[in-house]
This record gives sequence, structure tokens and C-alpha cells, in this order.
Amino acid sequence: MTANANPFESLQSQIEDAAVHLDVGDDVIDRLKHPERVLETNLTVELDDGSLERFRAYRSQFNGDRGPYKGGIRYHPGVTRDEVKALSGWMVYKCAVVNIPYGGGKGGIVIDPREYSQAELERITRAFATELRPFIGEDRDIPAPDVNTGQREMNWIKDTYETLENTTSPGVITGKAIESGGSYGRVEATGRSTMLTAREAFDYLGKDIAGATVAVQGYGNAGWIAANLLEEIGATVVAVSDSSGAIYAESGLDTQAVRSFKTDTGTVSDYEDADDEFSNEELLTLDVDLLVPAALENAIDEELAHDVQADVIAEAANGPLTPGADRVLAEQDVLVIPDILANAGGVTVSYFEWVQNRQRFYWSEERVNEELETLIVDAFDDLVETYETHDIDTFRTAAYVVAIQRVVNAFEEGGTFP
Ligand code: NAD
Repeated sequence: MTANANPFESLQSQIEDAAVHLDVGDDVIDRLKHPERVLETNLTVELDDGSLERFRAYRSQFNGDRGPYKGGIRYHPGVTRDEVKALSGWMVYKCAVVNIPYGGGKGGIVIDPREYSQAELERITRAFATELRPFIGEDRDIPAPDVNTGQREMNWIKDTYETLENTTSPGVITGKAIESGGSYGRVEATGRSTMLTAREAFDYLGKDIAGATVAVQGYGNAGWIAANLLEEIGATVVAVSDSSGAIYAESGLDTQAVRSFKTDTGTVSDYEDADDEFSNEELLTLDVDLLVPAALENAIDEELAHDVQADVIAEAANGPLTPGADRVLAEQDVLVIPDILANAGGVTVSYFEWVQNRQRFYWSEERVNEELETLIVDAFDDLVETYETHDIDTFRTAAYVVAIQRVVNAFEEGGTFP
């Protein structure tokens, strides 16, 4: 993985590429390239041994023209202000591309959570929730899980918020456990939209996803579910990886068995039924029909892109291709399903969770999955229509054209204040 592209600059260049196809003034586009505000805070927390430690944390609220800010909270040592800003911007356009009534936000704490006990993580999370309290709310800003956070952290944030506000407000956060007001299908939703968009893309290309070979980089929540659901519709998952390296089996990996192995051992490496093991870079350049990057940003840079052999890339991760890689892959006729659509299932089912919380009326898993499929397939069709009618080079630019136009429409209807 390379770290040479600034994700915020990547976001801005994606917006500029789309702006060429839009009849929107530069002043409005400029506004859409910058966050409305960023909270930067230092959390001082007592560790189990009685010492104090300071943790830097951020929350970026990028744009609220279409609804409350929405986006995850990441725990990672590599979190930076620019990364959080970029991720919050991608959320704006992601929500717009699937046409759900949200703006975009994102947060993060600079921390390696593996180095802290559960009690310490709870105190750190509750300290962050306390700082976030004036900025978040069911109609204001609704956080969710991201890298290294999940139901546990979301439940702590909800509980802290509700305690301090002396209310019940399950819709203040999504990605909660079912018992705390979560939605069926939320955990699987990101991987599910990756599978659905890959299926639609293969259909668009006149190819069948059944029998297609697949490599998945990153075997966390998004990656493993995408792999599992692709296997379910007949694809052959030949390679998967995590931060420890990649495993390969020519006849296909049993995605569930690999997941159980990773749950038991903490890694996919040394999985007994693999034919081979290699590096993550080798996985990214395998000769497969579909590549699913599902780890972190900048997984494929311009140099590595020359060696990519996949026909289709479905971006389960946010920002896995640098702008340079994007250009090279477009020249090589690789169809890239952009992150803002491929992984939009997570935020879409977050939206369903919030709707259920607001109505205090809960849906079955079947209903969640059906509604998700409808929204994702409609969004894919809107993207293809724009791609073809505007004669655009890439699916990514087409997705931004659809999304930016929706945000601009909302902004222009509302006007400026003061
Ligand atoms: P996760 O923490 O569950 O999994 C991340 C996986 O990536 C882990 O298996 C980790 O070992 C692996 N990884 C880390 N560095 C790697 C490297 N250099 N090479 C290969 N693998 C590596 O996180 P997640 O929730 O699955 O998120 C993954 C990506 O998907 C992120 O970009 C996130 O922003 C995006 N995403 C997640 C959701 C969601 O609902 N979980 C929604 C939208 C987007």
C-alpha cells in the first residue's frame, strides 16, 4: 500500500473531473470541495495503570445541503485531518448518488485500538462522544462504524449521548446492535452493495458473474461479506488478504471457512486449504475477472495500476485508487465501480436503521435487503444513463456528476444564509 496520495486532494480532483461535465459555476464547485467545519479535539483519558494519555480526534462535517451529516468514526493510527476531511466529502457524494436524504461527515481517533483494553477503549469512546455531543443529533449529524469500530463503540456513543441529553435517541447513531435499535442487514450491507454493483456491472458488460474469478484485498467486515455474497451468486473467490498477507486457491476459497480461521487465529495467513501465499501487491495484480479492494485508501497507485490485470474493480474500500491509478486503469479499459456506489450499502442501511429508529417500527431482514437492492440497482442505472448520455470516460466521474448535480440542486433551492 502506498501512502503518497493525499486523500483530500484525491477527492478534490474527482470533483474537478466531474465539474467539467456540469453547468455549475466555479464558486459553487469551490464550496463543494471544502468541509463546512472540522472539529479537532484532544481527549485526555486515564489508562488502566492510572496514567493519562492524550488522543487526537476529529469530526468533519463536509456538507449538509441534503440532510444531516452522516458518516463513520474510524480508530486507526494513520488517521489525519485531511483523511477525515476526504472521507467526509466522499460521504456527501455517496449519499447523493444513492439518493438518500443525508449530507456527509466523518470522524476518527488517532489510535491503534489493539494496544488498549476494552475498559480503556470504552473510556476513550465515551470521552469522544462527550466532545461530539453538541455537534451530533438525529437531525444534525449521525455517526456510524468505520475501520476498527463496530456495534460496541456505537452503543457506547449512543449511551453517552442519551445519558448527557437525558433522552432516548437511538437515531443519533447507526450501526448499533439489534438490541440497541440496530437494523437487520446493516453488518452485511457494505459487502452486499459491493456484490450487487459487481453483478450489475458484469451484466452491463454482457458477462456472467457466475464463474467469474475474484480477488479481495482486506478481509474485514466489508471484504469478507463481499467475498461471501459473491461466492453465493456463483463467483469463485481465488484470493483474499489482510494486513498479514494474501492466500490463494485456484479452485476457490471457502469464504466462510477462511472467515472462521481468521476469527480463531486473527489472520488469513497459514490457512490450511490455500495453494499459495503471497504479498498484498501480488494479490492486486492477479489475473482475475473482478478485484475488490476492501482495506484502506491508496491501495493501488499509478505505478501498480499498470500491472493490474482484473477486468472490473469494485471499490468496497473508500478511496483505494489514487487519481493516477484511475487514469491508468481507464486507459487499460478496466471498469471501476466507484466507492461512492460500490460501498454505499452501509450508509443506505444506516439510513434504513435511522428511519426505523424514528418510526420506532422495525423491519425484517428480507425487507431491508429488498429495499437495499432497489436503491442500489436504481443508483447503478442512473449512473449508467449519465455515463452514456454525457459521454463520460469513467463510472467514477459519472457517479460524481449525478451526485454533485443533486447536491447543487438542493443548495440552489435553499440559497445562501445570511
Ligand atoms: P475492518 O477493520 O473490518 O477490515 C479492514 C481489513 O483490511 C482487515 O482485514 C485488515 O487486516 C485489512 N487490511 C489493513 N491493511 C491492509 C493491507 N495493507 N493490505 C491488506 N489488507 C489490509 O474495516 P471495514 O469496515 O471492512 O472497512 C474496510 C474499508 O471499507 C474501509 O475503507 C472503510 O472505509 C470501507 N467501508 C466500510 C463500511 C462498513 O460498513 N464497514 C462502509 C463503507 C466503506
